[in-house]
Amino acid sequence: MNYKIKGTYDLLPEDSIKWEYVQNKLKEIFKKYNYKEIRTPIMEYSEVFHREGEFSDMVQKETYNFVDKGNRNITLRPEATAGIMRSVIETKNYAQNDILKYFYIGPNYRYERPQKGRFREFYQFGVEVIGLKSPYVDAEVIMLASDIITEFGLDGVLIKLNSLGDNQSRLKYQKVLKEYFESHKEGLCNDCQTRLDNNPLRILDCKIDGPKEVVKNAPKSIDYLTDSSKVHFETVLKVLDENKINYEIDHNLVRGIDYYSETVFEIHANIKDFGNANTLGGGGAYDNLSTDLGGPELTGIGFSFGMERFVEALEVSGAMPNLEYALDAYIITFDEEYNTFASKVLKDLRDHKVIAEMDYDNKSVKSKMKKAIKANPKYLIFIGEDEVKNNLVSVKDTNTQEQKPMKVKELIKLLGGK
Ligand code: AMP
Repeated sequence: MNYKIKGTYDLLPEDSIKWEYVQNKLKEIFKKYNYKEIRTPIMEYSEVFHREGEFSDMVQKETYNFVDKGNRNITLRPEATAGIMRSVIETKNYAQNDILKYFYIGPNYRYERPQKGRFREFYQFGVEVIGLKSPYVDAEVIMLASDIITEFGLDGVLIKLNSLGDNQSRLKYQKVLKEYFESHKEGLCNDCQTRLDNNPLRILDCKIDGPKEVVKNAPKSIDYLTDSSKVHFETVLKVLDENKINYEIDHNLVRGIDYYSETVFEIHANIKDFGNANTLGGGGAYDNLSTDLGGPELTGIGFSFGMERFVEALEVSGAMPNLEYALDAYIITFDEEYNTFASKVLKDLRDHKVIAEMDYDNKSVKSKMKKAIKANPKYLIFIGEDEVKNNLVSVKDTNTQEQKPMKVKELIKLLGGK
């Protein structure tokens, strides 16, 4: 007996229909904003993620790494952004377009402790806008994230946001923060004591230290913004105000990955008993990722939502519609000798886009009927000696229970076939 790998799951048809609904609706939303789909490989050379200066747990502790048969170091992507930026640099698509607007839906891999809603293979959907630094771009991306929540019928959308500023602001802020935490070192957890040297910003969103007074009272990044970063952030807020986007500023929001700069944000909904899982997604701008990957100076901003969490949020809140697999016609033959005739009827129906099924089993008509009722088709199609002789089918409306013979052409018309 073989089992699935810890932290993975099988998506079965009763759930994949929900994913299909979400993906189709998402694609409609992305289309409105003129975002186009990008699909990058699931595996990349390790250095795409293991970059100098990237100290996040996700990259340091949670990546799946292996050496392939050609002795290359490969990593399964833990997130989408770095691979997308690698692609933009490699294809030089930025040279022909001053702005690239991508959306993606796909799997990521993180060696995390599996728990409710946290997997080792999980899907994310999101966007990346690369090439143009503008507060209006930031605002558009945030508004799109907010729109996703409301379009799917989830309540209480709230954007939490903060600004880390440009490199100059960040360096200044990092220095101040380091000094502050140096003088409060004894109150910090072990991980944060290391973070003090690597990236003191990450102390702010530490799960252990984050709620402590010492962290809550830490200096705020927005007090150390350069003039241009300040104007940038204020303009983002102004556009959000004008568009009545529900947001609040969270001074401790820095996000888990080290490449963020300027605007960072999280997208929350208000689902009863969903607790921390109400954080459905997060994102931010990244000014240094391209140069860290050996590319030109290119700015970007994006967000990602966890697909599993999003689907669960829709279900828990009652926003997931009732979805069923439709079946128009279900063919039952009275004996195997009529199956060839029936197979032609079946093909004809399908050629006209009718959703049709046939029972190939040679069991009794009674047992076939039982199965057919379970399949819940709109019409049952009976084929026996008379039908074959007269080139007809007997059609039973499962709603009215009315039954009559007709030509396949008429059946196709009845079923709205095209
Ligand atoms: P992150 O990329 O860590 O900023 O996460 C963005 C979103 O992805 C989160 O809000 C979660 O919904 C989802 N997510 C992150 N890690 C996992 C995981 N291991 N399993 C399931 N969903 C995840």
